[in-house]
Amino acid sequence: MHPLAKLDHRSLWHPFTQMRDWLKREPILIVEGRGALVRDVHGREYLDANSSIWTNLHGHNHPRLNAAIQRQLRKIAHSSALGFANEPASLLAERLVGAANPPPRALPVAQASSPRVRRASSPALRKVFFSDDGSTAMEVGLKLAFEFARRTGRSQKPKFLSLQSAYHGDTVGAVSLGHIGLFNKAYSGLLFKTDHVMAPYCYRCPFNRARPERADARDYRKCNWECVGKLEQKFAAQKRKGNPYATFVFEPLMQGAAGMIPQPAGWLRRAAEISRGHGALLLADEVMTGFGRTGTITPAPSSPHLSLLSSSSSPLFACHHEGVQPDFMALAKGLTGGYLPMAATLTTQAVFDAFLGEYDEFRTFFHGHSFTANQLGAAAALASLDILETESSVQARWRLEQTLRDEIHNLWTSPHIGDIRQVGLIVGIELVRDWRTREPFDLRERTGIRVCEALAKLGVLTRPIGNVVVLMPPYCTTPAQVRRMLAAIGQATASL
Ligand code: PMP
Repeated sequence: MHPLAKLDHRSLWHPFTQMRDWLKREPILIVEGRGALVRDVHGREYLDANSSIWTNLHGHNHPRLNAAIQRQLRKIAHSSALGFANEPASLLAERLVGAANPPPRALPVAQASSPRVRRASSPALRKVFFSDDGSTAMEVGLKLAFEFARRTGRSQKPKFLSLQSAYHGDTVGAVSLGHIGLFNKAYSGLLFKTDHVMAPYCYRCPFNRARPERADARDYRKCNWECVGKLEQKFAAQKRKGNPYATFVFEPLMQGAAGMIPQPAGWLRRAAEISRGHGALLLADEVMTGFGRTGTITPAPSSPHLSLLSSSSSPLFACHHEGVQPDFMALAKGLTGGYLPMAATLTTQAVFDAFLGEYDEFRTFFHGHSFTANQLGAAAALASLDILETESSVQARWRLEQTLRDEIHNLWTSPHIGDIRQVGLIVGIELVRDWRTREPFDLRERTGIRVCEALAKLGVLTRPIGNVVVLMPPYCTTPAQVRRMLAAIGQATASL
């Protein structure tokens, strides 16, 4: 075993990892990366098929990101936002506000023309509160929403509604907003109560009357949008209790850690309308979906007319695919291009104003972290936004999305692949015992883990969510690299 791996075994405790299993074998120890590839301490190369747990956008060792961080490093690495402002954070806050409020013409046409949706799109995100990671970005959103509801008299005991199987992070507030039984059970007694409502999961939806097909379940489902009906009922029932929901919390377009569960087109817009109709604020968790991950809005023109693509057809945030503008938007992971831990919670002027007052009224937002608005992170984030806005990045994202869509078809021949669901540049592949019955593998069989171990041997790194294999490659991934990833998945699932 490599000496560095021995050190890891001696002293390190890894997240979401059964350490008894970890200690049984030599870990893959990454020492460098370039583009979509990472290399381990033995010189073996791997494709970073999940962008280092959904963080990396433009590839590793990107010259522009490296240069931006080095430039900033020559000035200062960090000074505190508690009491002082700094240059890159000020610039970044302005840029994020610009990016999070696209002009109405950038919204999908059908939705921009609907008055109900215009109302749902109305609040502008004007203020940016920085923190360190996805969990803290959600924690900030949660606290702001809680206090806002109390200060505006909407509720003295603000109630939150989130989606079945939701995951919003690992701090106590973020876990409370989540509904993954395994995680919540571990901390029962420590968490506060939030409600959950049916989330669309077409492949396993009890209301979907369609027999399994070799296609994304959203495309062949037979239902009457019962999931939307359930949401409406949930809001109505809570209203009858005299304390309507203060805030609806959701991941837009696709729930990540729930198992890469996509929402059928139109669900998000309808859900936003229902929430708004009941006076609830919207807290969108764009920690995974943000920064272009959810792809292009309309079917893009067929190649070679790529120049017709523009940044407005490739929104940076998932909410904007359906013309929805939330009151709180949590960002992390890709914010710095996946380079540094930094996060942001964006909110409206109205929320900000609710915290204004004389000093001795103590209306201050009592929350903050040592590394809030860190300069190195902000410099990386500014450079990442610059890259995202270039035509070549927009085209690369569109090409990657199309390549994934075209190439993934070959996997349908596997009897152990039940559902392949793609939202933009994110793909979830659900492994099942038999596609004809949708019968799942028992979690104890560790099927997802075993497939990912086999993938690593084939030079492809990703991490499963239960029985779902995740593909979310960096935007620089080439068609040949996509084909390698998919061939490896075909091979790794063949022997199940
Ligand atoms: N929200 C979502 C949607 C996430 O996917 C994650 C992390 N996977 C988080 C919040 C928490 O982010 P972090 O791990 O950076 O705290």
